[in-house]
Amino acid sequence: MAIHNVDILIIGAGPSGLYGAYYAGFRGMSVALMDSLEEPGGQITAMYPEKSIFDVGGFAEIKGKDLIENLLLQSKPSKPIFLMNQTATSLTKNPDKSITVTSETDIVHTKAIIITGGIGRFTPRPLPAADGWGGKGLVHFVPKMSEHAGKDVVIVGGGDSAFDWANELHPIAKSVTLIHRRDKFRAHQATIDQVTALGVPLITEAEVTKVSGNSHIEKIEYTNKKTNEVTELTCQTLVAALGFTANIGPLAEWGLNLETRKIVVDSGMHTNVERIFAAGDISTYPGKVALISVGFGEAATAVNNAVVAINPEAHLFPGHSSGSVE
Ligand SMILES: Cc1cc2nc3c(=O)[nH]c(=O)nc-3n(C[C@H](O)[C@H](O)[C@H](O)COP(=O)(O)OP(=O)(O)OC[C@H]3O[C@@H](n4cnc5c(N)ncnc54)[C@H](O)[C@@H]3O)c2cc1C
Repeated sequence: MAIHNVDILIIGAGPSGLYGAYYAGFRGMSVALMDSLEEPGGQITAMYPEKSIFDVGGFAEIKGKDLIENLLLQSKPSKPIFLMNQTATSLTKNPDKSITVTSETDIVHTKAIIITGGIGRFTPRPLPAADGWGGKGLVHFVPKMSEHAGKDVVIVGGGDSAFDWANELHPIAKSVTLIHRRDKFRAHQATIDQVTALGVPLITEAEVTKVSGNSHIEKIEYTNKKTNEVTELTCQTLVAALGFTANIGPLAEWGLNLETRKIVVDSGMHTNVERIFAAGDISTYPGKVALISVGFGEAATAVNNAVVAINPEAHLFPGHSSGSVE
């Protein structure tokens, strides 16, 4: 197990958690971000990276993935430790008020926790035939298109992500093929029309039934569900865009006051457990509105209150990032 010691552990690297990481650094705190997904960005990365967002302050329009890119850049000076592919499972409160959180492979000793777990831990829906090919050509996200330049890409799925990625990868990949098990797609018709116009083969009512290669994927086979005909395709990147399931999971066992799978907080984002705070979609209070911009404000409030919980002499008000005006 790897051991980390930080002032603040943020559980959930969605927009609220990433902004919280910036803020922790701004307040002079060392910070780690833990997330069960392989990529930061929470719901945005998992569900709508290519969609435009219009209601985040300061951006008339911004693509989901660009917002996450900016948040990562903004958090960089805080030097956050990213603990990705890690689910916060157990929590121990220590006599000195510090807290220990463990995940599958790491132990984090921290002075305070901010839970920004959104709608819960995301788990990619599995593609059974590709079991064991993770890290060897099988991906669930395509955050950087350039990594797949010149490759034969097979995308499995019929939703917006599958079509968005087909659209984006087509100009740079050697080939793009989309396979879907139904004859109807869930994606927006405009995106389907775009991908169809590009000439991307759309293979419907078929399932990937075999993946083969040596140290990396080289080929896949798909089976037509009606005729049982098996077809082989050359493939180096297999994108399983089958969606995600979300589950609040282990966090529900931590003795926190919950209201319909949300963590109850006060105006300082304190939960009922000392030194544990919650912000973003996972937090609730009367009048709560679950929006990215609301999560940003709550994350700042949570960090400032955590700083005071850690050091009662500290000011709650952080001063302005722009510095004092003479
Ligand atoms: C299709 C769609 C479109 C949307 N459009 C907009 C929009 O236009 N404007 C807007 O304001 N909002 C929009 N939203 C809502 C917005 O995405 C959410 O409000 C926002 O993502 C919440 O951010 P968050 O950081 O609080 O949580 P999330 O984005 O949900 O991130 C939480 C993270 O916590 C992780 N996590 C949870 N539990 C654990 C655990 N135990 N251990 C480790 N990691 C854990 C999860 O894996 C996840 O990555 C949209 C949502 C969807 C689905």
